[in-house]
Amino acid sequence: MSQDGFRAGEIDTSRPHPARIYDYLLGGKDHYEVDQQAGDRLAAVAPEVFIGVRANRDFLRRAVQHIVGGGVRQILDIGTGLPTSPNVHEIAHAVAPDVRVAYVDNDPIVKAHADALLGRTGETSVVLADLRDPRAIVDHPDVRRVIDFDEPVAVLLVAIFHFLTDAEQPAQVVATLRDALPAGSFLVLSHATGDFADRTEAQAVYRDATATMNLRSRAEVERLFAGFELVEPGVVQVPYWRPDTEPPTGSDTIGFYGGVARKT
Ligand code: SAH
Repeated sequence: MSQDGFRAGEIDTSRPHPARIYDYLLGGKDHYEVDQQAGDRLAAVAPEVFIGVRANRDFLRRAVQHIVGGGVRQILDIGTGLPTSPNVHEIAHAVAPDVRVAYVDNDPIVKAHADALLGRTGETSVVLADLRDPRAIVDHPDVRRVIDFDEPVAVLLVAIFHFLTDAEQPAQVVATLRDALPAGSFLVLSHATGDFADRTEAQAVYRDATATMNLRSRAEVERLFAGFELVEPGVVQVPYWRPDTEPPTGSDTIGFYGGVARKT
């Protein structure tokens, strides 16, 4: 056990991990040399990736503010990533201090860091689980401890679905989550795309990482919202989803779609 409380054996520094590459791209400090090298290779073939991850994070913030502002008090954040300021619970609590958040990620380093940040509180939980087994997420006792599935829930699937292959049945995964939610719940989803540039080389960077990169078109991303009603402006490049400041220069090249939808 290190001082931070995680077992060194759980942290694999030989292969890049999506959470740690993303942390590097965001300018964080919780990554290793392999992740930095992967991030630099990514930036060499897709230079807009740095503004892209930042714009994705800003989309997440605006979406959470919108939904909590509308009265939802529970958030299930699947694919949390390493702590990044402001974190989801901080964004939510700035709007309404009584919001409860369950964080879910399949990377032990995320759980270790999130546990260290959050400690043991009644309003938040951190769960090690995999999106590919959505039933296990919904049934997990530490998710159930903070999320009441009889009340509206905002499910965040932000920059995670592109790590699922088609064989892993993304539509089925969303359907399982959707069926567990009551009316008035929300889905927030963002997804990497090759619609704005050839991203074959960027995809290749993830070939030796712990998850592959599966780019999808706008129509494919829209289909992930099946059974939900998209709120305006629908599925758009993340900087254009209800911007509250001028979208950054180069926004047209950003390869992330984002959307927010409501279960009716
Ligand atoms: N949602 C955050 C972080 C995105 S990085 C944001 O948008 O800012 C993607 C995260 O998804 C990483 O932390 C990675 O570990 C996690 N992840 C990837 N595949 C996953 C899976 N199958 N199940 C659970 N988490 C997964």
